[in-house]
Amino acid sequence: MQRILCPQCGAPVEFKSAASVMAVCGSCRSTLLKDAESVKRIGEMAEVLEDYSPIQITSTGKYEGKRFDVVGRLQLRYEAGFWNEWYVWFEDGTDGWLSDASGQYAVTRTRPSKDKDPALPPFDSLAPGKELKLDGKIYYAADLRRCRAVSGQGELPFAVGADGYEAVVADFRALDEFLTLDYSDAPTPQVYLGKAYSLDDMQRGSLRAEHLVEESAGNYVGKIKALDCPSCGAPISFAAAVATQVICPNCRAQVDCSGETAEVLAKQKKVASIQTTLSLGAKATIDNAAYTLIGLMQCEDPDPEESSRWIEYLLYSQQKGFLWLVESDDGWDKVRVCDRWPSPVSDKRYSYEGKRYDKLYDYDSVVKLALGAFNWRVKVGDVSHITDFGLGNGKLTRETADAELGWSVSERVGAAQVGRWFNFPELGKVKEKSPDKSNSLSGVAIFACVAMLFFNADELENGHWLSMIVGGVFIWLPVWIQNKLRDN
Ligand SMILES: [Zn+2]
Ligand SMILES: [Zn+2]
Repeated sequence: MQRILCPQCGAPVEFKSAASVMAVCGSCRSTLLKDAESVKRIGEMAEVLEDYSPIQITSTGKYEGKRFDVVGRLQLRYEAGFWNEWYVWFEDGTDGWLSDASGQYAVTRTRPSKDKDPALPPFDSLAPGKELKLDGKIYYAADLRRCRAVSGQGELPFAVGADGYEAVVADFRALDEFLTLDYSDAPTPQVYLGKAYSLDDMQRGSLRAEHLVEESAGNYVGKIKALDCPSCGAPISFAAAVATQVICPNCRAQVDCSGETAEVLAKQKKVASIQTTLSLGAKATIDNAAYTLIGLMQCEDPDPEESSRWIEYLLYSQQKGFLWLVESDDGWDKVRVCDRWPSPVSDKRYSYEGKRYDKLYDYDSVVKLALGAFNWRVKVGDVSHITDFGLGNGKLTRETADAELGWSVSERVGAAQVGRWFNFPELGKVKEKSPDKSNSLSGVAIFACVAMLFFNADELENGHWLSMIVGGVFIWLPVWIQNKLRDN
């Protein structure tokens, strides 16, 4: 480790990684460039936006059995949001990156180019879902981004000027493996390889405590928890420090929270408000974790023959990250983004966690209305192409948009279960009141009894009641069993 004093403010600045050429002074944000003998100030770095990430410089973790320290951070912004790339230094003297995007983590390290490498495709020829073969493996293009590295913290392995730089990156996935092609410096990309990463492999005590995350998130420290809408002044209390964007539930102004101040991007025309079963700010306990409902979207399949609408609720938990609940005519689904990707068995069948899912439907989803806080910039009219694969009550969903492809896995949950999560017991009851098959079964039973009595009037007159009673029991037994099953 090398320790120097900042030439601007005199504060101590450390270079832990031998590969670091630049560091940002923690006190004055001076950008310091290191060469063999000296350290030179080349400017000032924009401040990073403190977000909900529990990772910080000084956090430590393990990857493939090797300990690493988080020594630097680069924040990248694209049209619809931003993410962090944490620069990590391994105990064996190598380095890597821990990417941190909306609660999805991955560790990647430079893969040196080999003589036998195939020619890598130019960035503009890529499309989400496109295959790439490397080292005998097939990877699928996931995110294609032209973005801007805008701010940094701590040490970095290359120099970043005050204005940042344009980053051009393509992420590929194969099961839990990550491959990044970085076209930022040259048309021939630098290759990074790695894996999806779980925060469970980080040392707990080195992560930021929950209350610190809440207090510091957002550059308007302390304000984001109860942000006043910059357009109408209404308090927006559920933003909970996680939002890239908030759409005011009162005036529908679209507020960008990814800069230094909350900024109104666009005002939406006031449309008739919708009644949703669950409301913004609702609290739930799901699998022992506390969640807040921070955003909701009404989506539509525009197919003229079979159009349908559904509501997607975005929930956030400090410990568990994001979770979606989807409410449609078919019921409720609990949806999570897949950390590990499904792999194709054939065009119509995918394998995921040892199970096979068969193709169900292809359809489009258009955002008709969005309210609340989101971890990306959602717009009314956003279209994505969806393919569902099913297995019993479970579903795998592939969602493709212009520059990204993602997978999620969902399971069907009962309305009564959702009611218990939100401490909203009426939810289960409302659904049970709706007409269902047991009513028609009761109707059939009544009809059968009347018919039995009518056709056996002679027997009744002769006093043969017993056979009628036995017949009645057989007619009503299925109704009774079905009611029992439904109550459970
Ligand atoms: Zn300084
Ligand atoms: Zn407002």
